[in-house]
Amino acid sequence: MGKLFDIGLQQLTGPAPGDRAGVDAPAPNSARGTFFLETFGCQMNDHDSEKVAGVLLSRGYRQVESAEAASLILYNTCSIREKAAQKVFSRLGEYREKQKDGKIIGVLGCVAQQEGEDIFERAPWVSLVCGSASYRKLPQMLAELEAGNHRVTGLDTDTDETFETEMTRRDNPWRAYLTIIEGCDKACSYCVVPFTRGPERSRSSDSILREVRQLSDLGYSEVQLLGQTVNSYSDPTSRRMSFSELLLAVADVPGIRRVRFTTSHPSDFEKDIVEAIESQPKLCDHVHLPVQSGSSKVLRAMQRTYSREEYLEKVGMIRGAKRPIALTTDIIVGFPGETEADFEETLSLLEEVQYDSLFSFKYSPRPNTPSLSMTDSIPEEEKSRRLALLQDKQREIQRARNSSLVGETFEVLVSGKSRRENQWAGYTTSHRVVNFASQAQELLGTYVQVRVTDATPNSLLGEHAV
Ligand code: SAM
Ligand code: SF4
Repeated sequence: MGKLFDIGLQQLTGPAPGDRAGVDAPAPNSARGTFFLETFGCQMNDHDSEKVAGVLLSRGYRQVESAEAASLILYNTCSIREKAAQKVFSRLGEYREKQKDGKIIGVLGCVAQQEGEDIFERAPWVSLVCGSASYRKLPQMLAELEAGNHRVTGLDTDTDETFETEMTRRDNPWRAYLTIIEGCDKACSYCVVPFTRGPERSRSSDSILREVRQLSDLGYSEVQLLGQTVNSYSDPTSRRMSFSELLLAVADVPGIRRVRFTTSHPSDFEKDIVEAIESQPKLCDHVHLPVQSGSSKVLRAMQRTYSREEYLEKVGMIRGAKRPIALTTDIIVGFPGETEADFEETLSLLEEVQYDSLFSFKYSPRPNTPSLSMTDSIPEEEKSRRLALLQDKQREIQRARNSSLVGETFEVLVSGKSRRENQWAGYTTSHRVVNFASQAQELLGTYVQVRVTDATPNSLLGEHAV
């Protein structure tokens, strides 16, 4: 997945996380060598990479910025769409020469899980193949590699544990990501995730809250709880905290000012989540609720477990909240059998719901998924046409929605500084990007009030209101 909004600034980072007290890497041990970790895919993958980096740093490895400078090259992959998986093999081809220099090359993540040991056949220069459900065994696997083993695999998906590490290297100095549930027990007919990430496993509420307290002590004021179906969270401890209770408990941790969560599954989205948001302003005004299609017929074929009408009931709950909550979604166009009339239903859903933003994808047949047996009947050009129509429509909706905010003032967490003098950027609680002018000397990591003076479909423009 890409980023929710297009920020258009040089970067969204402040000081390197390693500069913060308490999250520094242990002093490098040159005997262990260096690693380069490249990540492709969604926020879950980004956060998995942060945890993998933590495991390596705690074993004395040092992270470097290029494959050339590394003794260990790791590629954390995504296979949600075919193009993403193809990219992995072309990148591995580029790494071939590097293995001759004595470098160790490893493939992690969804492609590793999906292709398994076949990767060794296609790319014999690879020494490690490890799916995300086996990351907790990484220390043992690293030990095997260090001992000279050239074929190390971690491909179990039947784990009942989540991947927790002593140390996680966090790449965003303002927002900390935290996985609270791994894997997925749903069975959407197009999706590889249940296969590549294994069954659903929730982390205990105690360990989540302990980590949030540590993060707060380190200076993080915003946390984002992650899971493929984050709201299916089921506390394995005797406390049996519900997801909405967990949200409130995280928000209660002193020092935490913003709590986000993604991705919610519509079937498990209930009123108590909206009530929690209403009662606690630290819970951000944003819900990401993927719909995938506006046609009940297509939703049935996708095995999404809800109809258009049932989805709209959930939207009604969110839109009826006591304070406005931004709503974003994911949509797939060109699913097998999607007729023009089905697609029109998706367009009419956009009109009805008025999303604040969306991610849109052309259907891509994936290995091991039930929809693979359906004929991929929509030609590529037609998928592209539908995608473009959908995006045009959404752009106009966003233009209108963002324009209606001109004149309002929002709290912004400042997370970027433009090359242009006195220009800053950050996010509102509704996750809108705001680019704004301020004469202040240093604002990174602070919360400021910004008055909106103009709007584009993807961002707001404003000025620091003091
Ligand atoms: N768990 C989340 C959910 O239920 O919506 C999303 C998981 S997936 C990583 C992110 C998005 O990728 C999905 O919401 C879907 O829109 C898209 N996606 C997944 N499989 C796809 C496929 N085979 N072809 C096209 N898009 C796909
Ligand atoms: Fe994939 Fe569906 Fe699970 Fe989301 S809920 S990860 S789309 S199977």
